[in-house]
Amino acid sequence: MYNEIFMKFISKRGNIGIIRNAVAALIIDSNPTITFLNELKTVISEAITNCIVHGYDNQEDQYVEMKVIVDDEKVACDIQDYGKGIEDIEQAREPLFSTKKEEERSGLGFTIMEMFCDTFAVESKVNEGTKIHFTKNW
Ligand code: ATP
Ligand code: MG
Repeated sequence: MYNEIFMKFISKRGNIGIIRNAVAALIIDSNPTITFLNELKTVISEAITNCIVHGYDNQEDQYVEMKVIVDDEKVACDIQDYGKGIEDIEQAREPLFSTKKEEERSGLGFTIMEMFCDTFAVESKVNEGTKIHFTKNW
């Protein structure tokens, strides 16, 4: 069964829960396992948190965009911010690398996202923003 949804929301942390639940509602008809659902919610939370915390340095009046496509094989998702961008994507994706260690970030967000997805890509331009794309097979 095919479905597609686009969302645009401001960069408030409180929106993360709303979006997680919206995506859960979107895929529930496909009878996901609890594990699938929890992993997908985790990936979405990590990705949106990065947009807010890093992309926008916790400013709450910026926009995050998200596209989710569901088909018979997978869930595919793009999550995009228009914030500060990532200088060195390879370094950013290394386990335990964080530019906000002083704020008790562990630098494991990307590692966790990759672990729970079947494909995972990051595109970013300094001062233009960051987009992640992932797919997760049923
Ligand atoms: P944790 O996710 O464990 O709380 P973290 O967010 O620092 O810590 P990752 O999610 O792995 O760790 O991200 C690694 C680094 O990549 C971040 O510290 C940040 O420098 C950069 N980064 C990630 N997402 C973005 C983004 N959307 N915009 C700008 N920089 C980003
Ligand atoms: Mg993170």
